[in-house]
Amino acid sequence: MLERDNCFYEIRRQLVYKQAHYGTKVEIVARWYPSSKKCSKCGHVQEMKLSDRVFDCQNCGHKQDRDENASINLENAPHDIVRSA
Ligand SMILES: [Zn+2]
Repeated sequence: MLERDNCFYEIRRQLVYKQAHYGTKVEIVARWYPSSKKCSKCGHVQEMKLSDRVFDCQNCGHKQDRDENASINLENAPHDIVRSA
């Protein structure tokens, strides 16, 4: 297992472990969901390199910080691909 995988695993483990203490709810979205590659405005999906820090939609022209765009997509993910941790 790569060290990076260990890091993500540990972050996830901590989030799940502490949710009861903080009264939060951790939800897991299917890993194949294209949260970074999908336009949060029009739904268009396009390829993104890891080095691309701004999502620049080739369909509608929407521009947004990569992580902000992905977070909106995760918040609006279809319920059938989201489960509680
Ligand atoms: Zn778009």
